[in-house]
Amino acid sequence: MASSRLPSTKLSRKLEKGSGIERLMDDLGRALEEGAGDLHMLGGGNPAPIPEVAQRWRALMQGMLSDQPERFDRMLGVYDPQQGNRRYIRAIVRLFNETYGWGLTEDNVVITNGGQTAYFYLFNLLAGLDDAGQMKRVLFPLMPEYIGYAEQGMHPEMFVAAPSKIEELPDGLFKYHVDFEQLPWDESISALCVSRPTNPTGNVLTDDEMRHLHRLCRERDAYLIVDNAYGAPFPDMIFTDIQPFWGEDVVLTYSLSKLGLPGVRTGIVIGPPEICRAVSSMNAIVGLANGNVGQALTLPLFESGEIIRFAQEHVRPYYQDRSQRAVEAIREAFADVPCRIHVPEGALFLWLWFPGLPGGGDLLYEELKAAGVLVVPGHFFFHSLPEPWQHAEECIRINYAMDIEAFPEAAKTMADVVRKRFNGS
Ligand code: PLP
Repeated sequence: MASSRLPSTKLSRKLEKGSGIERLMDDLGRALEEGAGDLHMLGGGNPAPIPEVAQRWRALMQGMLSDQPERFDRMLGVYDPQQGNRRYIRAIVRLFNETYGWGLTEDNVVITNGGQTAYFYLFNLLAGLDDAGQMKRVLFPLMPEYIGYAEQGMHPEMFVAAPSKIEELPDGLFKYHVDFEQLPWDESISALCVSRPTNPTGNVLTDDEMRHLHRLCRERDAYLIVDNAYGAPFPDMIFTDIQPFWGEDVVLTYSLSKLGLPGVRTGIVIGPPEICRAVSSMNAIVGLANGNVGQALTLPLFESGEIIRFAQEHVRPYYQDRSQRAVEAIREAFADVPCRIHVPEGALFLWLWFPGLPGGGDLLYEELKAAGVLVVPGHFFFHSLPEPWQHAEECIRINYAMDIEAFPEAAKTMADVVRKRFNGS
């Protein structure tokens, strides 16, 4: 990526190596730009184009233009304070307090330019070299975990991960669990981070598992970071019965992206005041202020509290239906091929495991691409592990949000490619 003319700084050397997230965004961006053609776009994390949702965003923007032009002008014409728009922050505080009784104040909330940016700030705030020259680290207790975290540390040793326990289930399903007994805890761990639902697997940690993780964090004076990019109460892409988690030294992140608004780049951090103050400072240092469009557009839904019902009625059922149809299509296509599906409990992905797959994940990715199906090889999601894990080479992630009508055909093509791999042809 970086040219050799750049001074050899830590950052330029890091960028030269490239990263999984870049390759993923690049492949996806290029394919979308060129027009997918015959390619089945099952890579990337783009949300589905849900007609009622898109219509709502259009109507809100039109309403602002015609009925509240002064709000529109303000949206384009002013820098908001670095913490985010005051009115938006008040609406978020009220929404969570009225719905869950969390007792938040405005000091518990800060807006960022998307969840991804929030993670860059949080990780580099909570991990790295401390005053005594000791490395502070973030622990990912449930690998595989979101690829977008992998390269965010300004120091290469900032992250550590623990492989999940695998439970094989009937009907060709399986599920990852946190291996609580084997977590590599030591005094260097300053924070634990999980996505809930998990990208890439669609796993949803139960309320009990969250309490257990939180208890461990409290005992060891570590923060618990929970990434709700697909979580409750919005976008609510969760198919199991769970509650959002909140407690002492918990940091939650939310995003407008999976509500069909990845273009507005709006993230929401809810956490202890010292964390929110630091993130707010980073907003100012890195970018002066956040983009205003996402906050202005969605403000009415947050102020009225309607955002929760909107997600429950329009977003969750859409993905749940597609998830079931995708599972059926995979089961049918892979009837004679070794394939296990991670229990789909949320998000917009299916995570497939081909036990014993020869040749590795990159080869499979290239063969699938050549056959017309773009997926993400699983190994990218097993970052920060102390040792390589063969299982990583046997998994892929597919996004079923894009075109469910064409999905059965994509599943058949995938099954043909994987069958050939197993047959050595
Ligand atoms: N966290 C998870 C688990 C994600 O899957 C994503 C994007 O796909 C993000 C964070 C970042 O999203 P954004 O920066 O669009 O808010």
